[in-house]
Amino acid sequence: MKYQSPRGTQDILPKDSKIWQRIINTSKEILEFYSFQEIILPIFEHTELFQRSVGESSDIVNKEMYTFLDRSERSLTLRPEGTAGIVRAYIENGLHREPKPVKLWTYGPLFRYERAQVGRYRQFHQVDAEVLGSNSIACEVESVFALSKIFNTLEIDYHIEINSLGDEESRKSYKEYFQKYTKGFLNDLCEDCKRRYEQNPLRMLDCKVKADQEIFAGAKKPLEFLSGESSKTWEEIKSLLGIYKDKNNRPIQNIVTNPNLVRGLDYYNDFVFEVKSTSEVLKGQSAICGGGRYDNLVESLGGPKTPAFGWAMGIERLMLIVKEGIQKNISISFLSNQEEVFNYSNQLFEVGKENNLKLNIEVVYNPQNISKQIDTALKKNADFIVFYLDSEKVKNIFKIKNLKTREEIECTNQVSNIIDVLEREYNKIKN
Ligand code: AMP
Repeated sequence: MKYQSPRGTQDILPKDSKIWQRIINTSKEILEFYSFQEIILPIFEHTELFQRSVGESSDIVNKEMYTFLDRSERSLTLRPEGTAGIVRAYIENGLHREPKPVKLWTYGPLFRYERAQVGRYRQFHQVDAEVLGSNSIACEVESVFALSKIFNTLEIDYHIEINSLGDEESRKSYKEYFQKYTKGFLNDLCEDCKRRYEQNPLRMLDCKVKADQEIFAGAKKPLEFLSGESSKTWEEIKSLLGIYKDKNNRPIQNIVTNPNLVRGLDYYNDFVFEVKSTSEVLKGQSAICGGGRYDNLVESLGGPKTPAFGWAMGIERLMLIVKEGIQKNISISFLSNQEEVFNYSNQLFEVGKENNLKLNIEVVYNPQNISKQIDTALKKNADFIVFYLDSEKVKNIFKIKNLKTREEIECTNQVSNIIDVLEREYNKIKN
């Protein structure tokens, strides 16, 4: 008999495991910067935990759980998502008595019985981060910043979609409105939406059936039903997200409001978001991360009232796109007769690392014969020569020679400017 891995599972082979590690290590490094601590949890839990938390109206609970009876006839479920287990552990281990907020992260396998295709598996892995015990919008804002850092470091193209579902009062009034709006169309809706109509009408907005989407397109959106409090919070978050600047002081442009975004789990309130990749490779599965606020979940699972916020990102989907990028390895010969060159090369290491550029530098101090040094750099197959000799020093500039195109570029003598030029020129060589 020839054995094959079960449908929807896959092997990560040694040739790919470096990318896997890059994703985990990058996430870990950035999450630890934001004071998240790692928690490691069981892979199966009591079935009830997911029924209670993920919600009876969700696709996950309805159709996708791997549930089984163990030898003592207990109903157990392979975890289909990470938040429920973290909240269970938070309550069970008395973590709610620790100083708040409690910031936890984990990563590991999840299981959903889904239609297997590129980017959609039955066993997949997520990096999961949760902030428990804080209703501050710092949770929302920092999460978006942390994720931007992760995806920038992994060098992928993405945008972030944000929305607000509102607090209980907002959702109640939206639910009433939306049920009234859809009532007349009930016979035309898909079976799932008929069920959602009763259980959780908001989830209908997430329906993937085209005919249903057309019906809902004419409806008002949850954003138009926000209570005074929810609306104030939403505006504050948007304004804080607008102030995020990258290392070159440019605002991040890739945050957009998607008024239809509701997410597939029932426990969210107010701010929700999804990160989508623009890569073609993912076909329809463009969501690489999703999350939001869930202020009532801890209490509904038997803990004290605890506002909370969290997100999860899919490692397999990232594997598909991070795989496309190779780490840039740029070799530079730094020609200078100035003492500052050593300081500049130290800074290049730091700034290069921040930008995920792998640099090899050779400082040629006090070069006697410049043209000979250029020859040597060419023989060593260097990509660039950076000149900082007397003539550059007087003008406060660096001169950068692209050895592949032979072009020369001048920039003011700040190391971040060298990095910008190298990145731009390197992309030219590659394409
Ligand atoms: P969710 O827990 O559904 O909010 O999903 C969070 C992230 O996990 C998604 O944005 C995907 O990147 C990833 N993900 C969810 N389901 C799957 C799956 N079946 N296969 C691979 N990745 C998944």
